[in-house]
Amino acid sequence: MSTRPPELFPLFAALDTLPGVGEKTAHAFAQIGVERPRDLLFTLPHSGIDRRPRRSIREVVLPATVTVEVEVGGHLPARAKGKPTRVMVRDAETEFQLVFFHAKGDWLEKQLPTGQRRVISGRVEIFDGVAQMAHPDHILRPEDARDLPAFEPVYPLSSGLTQRVVARAVQGALTRLPQAAEWADPALVAREGWPAWADAVARAHAPHGSDDLAPTAPARARLAYDELFAHQVTLALARSQLRRAKGRVSRGDGALRARTLAALPFAPTAAQARAMAEIAADMGSAARMNRLLQGDVGSGKTLVAFMALLVAVEAGGQGVMMAPTEILARQHLDSLAPLAQAAGVRLEILTGRDKGAERAAKLADLAAGRIAILVGTHAVFQREVEFADLRLAVVDEQHRFGVAQRMELGAKGRAADMLVMTATPIPRSLSLAQYGDMDVSLLDEKPPGRKPVKTALISTGRIDEVVAHLRRALADGRQAYWVCPLVEDSETVDLTSAEERFRALRVAFGEGVVGLVHGQLPAAEKDAAMAAFVAGRTRLLVATTVIEVGVNVPNASIMVIERAESFGLAQLHQLRGRVGRGAAESTCLMLYQSPLTGSGERRLQILRETEDGFRIAEEDLAMRGAGDVLGTAQSGLPRFRVADLERQAGLMAVAQSDARALLAADPALESPRGRAVRLLLWLMEQDRAIRLISVG
Ligand code: ADP
Ligand code: MG
Repeated sequence: MSTRPPELFPLFAALDTLPGVGEKTAHAFAQIGVERPRDLLFTLPHSGIDRRPRRSIREVVLPATVTVEVEVGGHLPARAKGKPTRVMVRDAETEFQLVFFHAKGDWLEKQLPTGQRRVISGRVEIFDGVAQMAHPDHILRPEDARDLPAFEPVYPLSSGLTQRVVARAVQGALTRLPQAAEWADPALVAREGWPAWADAVARAHAPHGSDDLAPTAPARARLAYDELFAHQVTLALARSQLRRAKGRVSRGDGALRARTLAALPFAPTAAQARAMAEIAADMGSAARMNRLLQGDVGSGKTLVAFMALLVAVEAGGQGVMMAPTEILARQHLDSLAPLAQAAGVRLEILTGRDKGAERAAKLADLAAGRIAILVGTHAVFQREVEFADLRLAVVDEQHRFGVAQRMELGAKGRAADMLVMTATPIPRSLSLAQYGDMDVSLLDEKPPGRKPVKTALISTGRIDEVVAHLRRALADGRQAYWVCPLVEDSETVDLTSAEERFRALRVAFGEGVVGLVHGQLPAAEKDAAMAAFVAGRTRLLVATTVIEVGVNVPNASIMVIERAESFGLAQLHQLRGRVGRGAAESTCLMLYQSPLTGSGERRLQILRETEDGFRIAEEDLAMRGAGDVLGTAQSGLPRFRVADLERQAGLMAVAQSDARALLAADPALESPRGRAVRLLLWLMEQDRAIRLISVG
């Protein structure tokens, strides 16, 4: 199984083995991501042109693409350099002109001999009162016109490609389809009325009308499904391999957890309780946990994560929580500290900033098991960091790891359970694509009593009013954030820099009241600025988006976002989530520069309408598409050729449950259907999956 099945060789041959494709054309194809005949199969037409024959161009409203049979009349040579050659033609009702620039004289004579009949197809326009067709798409002898499809597929192009070249190459690729047994669940195929794979490929390339181009057209849906299914089989294989890997059974008596909960002024929400139970059950099983804790800002992930860490401690082991940045690690430390105190366990932090004797002492305590829970940055994964008995790693991910990196982290071999936290709500289809190898606990409910954040859109022209409002609020003892888009003035991007805004606001509110934090500050200054704000010494914190994630200052109840239109939806949602965490009524003021673009206005409107992170995420997906929402390169999300995660969202869930069910029944893919799925994995270039089967 570790070599490609021979029946797929023709599809993985060089592209120039296809009719009409030479070296140059192959280069042009590479521009649109087509390197092998296989890629062409999954490069589907995005639209189509109606080529049904008409009696006359008079039958359609011009300008339009028309197909008519004509009698060729006289050729009128170019009257001057740069002027076109014209050929008079007459259809059943009227005469019009064909127009050619730079035509080689005798090529035209051969294509369009005067007095003969031809079927021509192309766009007809009225120019100076005369109907003309410039450079027809097709010029055919009447007897060959049958080959012209009534609905001609239109493919994506790059320079150097024409529709005709692509169509011909596609036809060539279509002759190379292997005999493939059905790999999809037959019940699903029957229920959806999907064609078999080979049929689906052929039909997707031969649409009869625009209905056949819709994502819901059976052939297209089937091919999208195959693509998603292959991806999900890969993730499911990774998942089952991880779960088979030696895990630890971590079961506690619940004493530490009970003590912590008793010390809290609130009870867990139902969603938190559910997530805690799911995690405890997972940690108590022999399979290694690989679980995602997904919850919007403020949904209370910290408590859930801490309870999971306590399971590890109750079981006699240790836990670690890793954050992507120093600031976030310190925030985690601050929010975990009271919980750890309630539980009576020792909590420490380790970052790149720990040095010398102190660091050595921490490492020794960790190795001896005297530290129960460690919080830190990537530094905690360095080789010299040794745990006495690490049972759980909590990774606060914030989209910084993709599927591949996570798999690597898991493969590094500590048998610890893994819990990944993400605060960014993402639509279900994307979540399944990105985290399909994991089990998911969802915090889809917020702690009670949160007051909605009042959100207002204010034009930059009214910035003085905003400052006056802030002055009153700060005098009332409230705290506020002021978010600026960029750190330094850039001549090309007209965005206000945090430093300049900081200086201006310091003049307005006085020395010592205003703090500044941005990504380019030295770490110590950053921490000091954060600490001053958390402690309430500074009342207004001017910041770049470094405060976007994780930062928690309950007394801060005003969020000003400058140039709000320049941020993405998800980012704005995250920023706004920084307020509304305390008892006070909170406000988010979105300053925008008018005039707003359509999409800028739509984004800000959505934020005004809702605080539901999942709804915002769906809107984001609808507006931007999957790659942009996740940042394809970082997310490890594959680039799907056929599947459209936005419009075929439902298919992803089906693909995941189908893939998991298949592997549960046939873990090594050895049944007849399992064998068929192997072919699919090869076809879809799921190399990782193939390696996993080979070792499995
Ligand atoms: P997240 O990390 O998901 O953004 P946090 O864990 O920081 O959210 O929780 C936000 C705030 O809500 C914290 O102040 C926390 O103490 C509080 N909180 C958490 N769970 C509950 C609950 N069940 N009821 C009331 N408040 C809660
Ligand atoms: Mg948090």
